[in-house]
Amino acid sequence: MKAYADICKMTVTELIEALESGVMTSAEITQAYLASIAAQDADIHAFLDVYTNTALQEAARSDERRKNGKTLSKLDGIPVALKDNMLVKGRVCTCASKMLKDFVSPYDATVTEKLKAAGMVLLGKLNMDEYAMGSSNENSAFGVCRNPWALDRVPGGSSGGVAAAVAAGMVPSALGSDTGGSIRQPASFCGVVGVKPAYGTVSRYGLVAFGSSLDQIGPITKTAEDAALMMDVIAGYDTHDATSDATIPTDFTLERYGSLQGKTIGMPSECFGEGLSRPVNDSIQAAAEQLKNLGAEIIEVSIPSIRYALSAYYVLSSAEASSNLARFDGIRYGYRTEHYDDLDELYRKSREEGFGLEVKRRIMLGTFALSSGYQDQYYLKAQQARDLLRHEYSEALESCDAVLTPVAPTVAFRLGDKTGDPMEMYMGDLYTVTANLTGLPAVSVPCRHVKEDGDTLPVGMSLLGSKNNLQALLSIADTYERKAKPNAGIRPYERLKGGASE
Ligand code: GLN
Repeated sequence: MKAYADICKMTVTELIEALESGVMTSAEITQAYLASIAAQDADIHAFLDVYTNTALQEAARSDERRKNGKTLSKLDGIPVALKDNMLVKGRVCTCASKMLKDFVSPYDATVTEKLKAAGMVLLGKLNMDEYAMGSSNENSAFGVCRNPWALDRVPGGSSGGVAAAVAAGMVPSALGSDTGGSIRQPASFCGVVGVKPAYGTVSRYGLVAFGSSLDQIGPITKTAEDAALMMDVIAGYDTHDATSDATIPTDFTLERYGSLQGKTIGMPSECFGEGLSRPVNDSIQAAAEQLKNLGAEIIEVSIPSIRYALSAYYVLSSAEASSNLARFDGIRYGYRTEHYDDLDELYRKSREEGFGLEVKRRIMLGTFALSSGYQDQYYLKAQQARDLLRHEYSEALESCDAVLTPVAPTVAFRLGDKTGDPMEMYMGDLYTVTANLTGLPAVSVPCRHVKEDGDTLPVGMSLLGSKNNLQALLSIADTYERKAKPNAGIRPYERLKGGASE
């Protein structure tokens, strides 16, 4: 039998092969991941809840099904975990907020239902920034999550726990949510693959809403191939989500391109100027060179309105958040203050005590942007910028198959480095928010490792494509991974205690 650390280094695809050939059972795999969590998560703190007992039961049931030739899907028996803003019936869903500390989910999110229907083993819930607001996981009410590559650095956010757990080999695949980069930026910081599907691809039913016109659920995995497998499970039209889009293809089976001959990759000149750190710029330029060597044609494209993207995103996402979070009033959901004299005070104190600083900042920002007299100046202007961006991206995508940019302007920064300056934290979202504003799919793919102050840190590149083309983006990413081998370097879990098996 393999040592647990070896099992935890395997991709979903390799685990499926091991299950199919009978070399391993789901019980063994699940035990290995639980052992990995036990060995590492005290240091990393990626998990907010570990479903040890039910995971082992589900694994045993999966093995039973396999023995009888009755597996539910290809991924039957593969462990998975969810960001703690998706509902799993009967389980606590905290959104990493004191407000929802004891909130028990009354039903399964559509994605949870789909994972269960595929026979996947639910390992637990993952750490995040409170209500998915943040870029470093430092806004979690239940403690920071650390980057497995360097424990004094952030894993990114808001799906920090998701990326950290996959990078450290504590789960082979997990689901995050992305409103302005929350799947892709942590994936980049942790050296894993992160996918933000086109708006409407994956149902938002049972995902606690942040910015409803921007939110999408997507997978974080070690490889593009694994991400495609996860997309096959979670994508699909859902009558429970009014914005679910039945026209988007739901088959993500990769095409195995021998080369990238015939593919055109556009690089927007506006994305390579001020604010972009040298190591990230060098990494993306090197990746472009590799893509070219694989046969792709690299062209320059232009998205002039990108200069409005961040402001538009922070106005729109905060406006939607202020409306979505109005429901947490101490009456129906979550935390209620203990001492109050009247109804107004009950509302006020419950929200004051239940929400963290950043969440309150967004609610105030959004309420202000929507207030009468300011709506035209902020909300409507932001909508106009959004329209411009949609238009410019669709034009750019007429001349190329994918738009290549950095995911984030820097590598993973140190814990505490940006907490004092929210503006600086927001600036880091420049390259990711456009996919949400336009609704287009984008993936973050590891492309290089750089050294900073003695740490080896991953850098991700972003590939963005047309609405119905996520499958093609993943196929390009897969070709890049197999031919350019960006992950041939050291993996973080090999340096953590309990990680080495030999
Ligand atoms: N960092 C961005 C924000 O704080 C993105 C968050 C997200 O995608 N959920 O708004």
